[in-house]
Amino acid sequence: MRKIQMVDLLGQYDKIQEQIDSKILEVVKSGAYINGPEVHNFQKELEDYLGVKHVIPCANGTDALQIAMMGLGLKPGDEVITADFTFAATVEVIALLQLTPVLVDVEKDTFNMNLEALKKAITPKTKAIVPVHLFGQCANMEAVLEIAKVHNLFVIEDTAQAIGANYTFSNGTKKKAGTMGIIGTTSFFPSKNLGCYGDGGAIFTNDDDLAHILRGMVNHGMYKRYYHDVVGVNSRLDSIQAAVLRIKLTHLDAYCNERRKAARYYNNAFKNEQFISTPKMGNGCEFVCDNCDCHVFHQYTLQITNGKRNELHQHLLDNGIPNAIYYPVALHSQKAYVDARYNEADFKVTNELIETVISLPMHTELDTEQQDFIIKTIIDFINN
Ligand SMILES: *Cc1c(COP(=O)(O)O)cnc(C)c1O
Repeated sequence: MRKIQMVDLLGQYDKIQEQIDSKILEVVKSGAYINGPEVHNFQKELEDYLGVKHVIPCANGTDALQIAMMGLGLKPGDEVITADFTFAATVEVIALLQLTPVLVDVEKDTFNMNLEALKKAITPKTKAIVPVHLFGQCANMEAVLEIAKVHNLFVIEDTAQAIGANYTFSNGTKKKAGTMGIIGTTSFFPSKNLGCYGDGGAIFTNDDDLAHILRGMVNHGMYKRYYHDVVGVNSRLDSIQAAVLRIKLTHLDAYCNERRKAARYYNNAFKNEQFISTPKMGNGCEFVCDNCDCHVFHQYTLQITNGKRNELHQHLLDNGIPNAIYYPVALHSQKAYVDARYNEADFKVTNELIETVISLPMHTELDTEQQDFIIKTIIDFINN
């Protein structure tokens, strides 16, 4: 059996090595290292893939979120609502811009923002909602967009974990994750579903004026060379990363399907286990469906309900099976973000999830021999 990895980036590279190597060399020899033709072409190709009018590449997914909030003109004191159960980048940029983060609980089944909690958190100071499409599945965007419309709020979708995922509205319209709110942001960190070989990120929008503002903001607030109209940042995607992303974008749908196949295999194996809860689909999607186009399984995350999650984590490591606890601490309990405004009773689900979740190896190169070993090791341990 090949060594099991949480994410097998080298295994994936092996299969596209020739293309990648020659393209990287081409960029090196071109002398255009920043904002060259590769970046421009990648931008166009990603716009086509997503069906969105504007993609603004930038340096990473955290910058993408920050620039999104700057571009929307959010001001210190404005409240921005996001999920308590996510990676810290989202809340970090809210705090950095001196906006007020308002964390809300998530749903136990989908790990995404709880709509009742969202509604309850809205105040006259609320300006934006940042749904995070956690682990590869869209939040309930139809409801989020409706709530935002009623209260006149911006919706910024954090799509760092869900690029390529589809969302189907109740009237049958399908949209790609990140293209439904006024802005979508993503990350091309190597381990993300569309990852480059370094840092990278992008901002998506269908709004022409906003796109113009954002394009200047990523480049020192310059709309004309050496004329600085607004305070911007330096956040660019470099040409080598764009070249890698252009190649990998052509495989993205196939990569998503590889992940779904692996998820289905895990799901079937665990379906009769009483202490193991497998990931649930939201938004009217059906998990076992062979034509699934919604969840892209950035993570495959179980909930272990008999209190043995921590022991399982160690047992798997002892058996050479990498695994991870995403996330071990709720954001509202993180030292950097504790706030007297928060009430533990409002975070019942997050507080439970941090004790029960465990994410298994999930990537495009998993084989069934590896999965069988992972599954057997888990089931034997949980039932003993
Ligand atoms: C990875 C990630 C980010 C940050 O992306 P970087 O490129 O690492 O800055 C933001 N939000 C979520 C949900 C992420 O998973």
